[in-house]
Amino acid sequence: MKILVPVKRVVDYNVKVRVKADGTGVDIANVKMSMNPFDEIAIEEAVRLKEKGAATEVIAVSCGVSQCQETLRTALAIGADRAIHVETDAELQPLAVAKLLAALVAKEAPGLVILGKQAIDDDANQTGQMLAALTNLPQATFASKVEVAADRVEVTREIDGGLEVLSMSLPAIVTTDLRLNEPRYVTLPNIMKAKKKPLENVKPADLGVDVAPRLKTLKVAEPAGRKAGIKVADVAALVDKLKNEAKVI
Ligand code: AMP
Repeated sequence: MKILVPVKRVVDYNVKVRVKADGTGVDIANVKMSMNPFDEIAIEEAVRLKEKGAATEVIAVSCGVSQCQETLRTALAIGADRAIHVETDAELQPLAVAKLLAALVAKEAPGLVILGKQAIDDDANQTGQMLAALTNLPQATFASKVEVAADRVEVTREIDGGLEVLSMSLPAIVTTDLRLNEPRYVTLPNIMKAKKKPLENVKPADLGVDVAPRLKTLKVAEPAGRKAGIKVADVAALVDKLKNEAKVI
């Protein structure tokens, strides 16, 4: 069984993002970029399934600019066997990515697609669900445990008030939550090995997909800054302010 793992190149989670002066988006010039953390978890899970003998090949795929190849090399260093770069400079929205992935699912026929539950840049949380709809495959989102047995996959999901366990026939779509696993450190020998692993380059047109955006971003703005606090003299003054200024009691 093949496992397809889509990995997105995003602003590193340690970077404090800045909005561009003209309000058109987030400034990513000279900013550290890394693999979306939920996708690292997805690659780790796929590699563990291969190590357990439940999968035979792990294929990482990234859609976007040429530098996505660095993200794919990281996926290969974690343990993916080969990578596909769907190269485009166009702005990619979740629907476009889902269509590209659906085309790759048709081509590669993976038993499982493991995506991150969301990309930490746009926080869309849409691609996995859209891919399931486009491919008409069963989906289990926010997985905290994944077990493959014969032709089924059992996925444990964290939901309000407990755990839900879903059993799905394969092929299926799974999206990862934070507690699924702790990704391994990438070692130098594995980084060296990753350089020799196959990385295929395709364009959206090769997959017959129109990636034109369907949504328009009107404005991006920083959240309002927090006002400085004050010290009040006594409880009576506090109650007065809560009642008459903040109007919360
Ligand atoms: P989103 O729906 O944008 O929050 O992203 C959910 C997941 O879809 C991510 O964690 C990735 O696994 C996958 N994904 C989104 N965008 C891309 C992309 N450009 N290339 C590869 N995978 C992506």
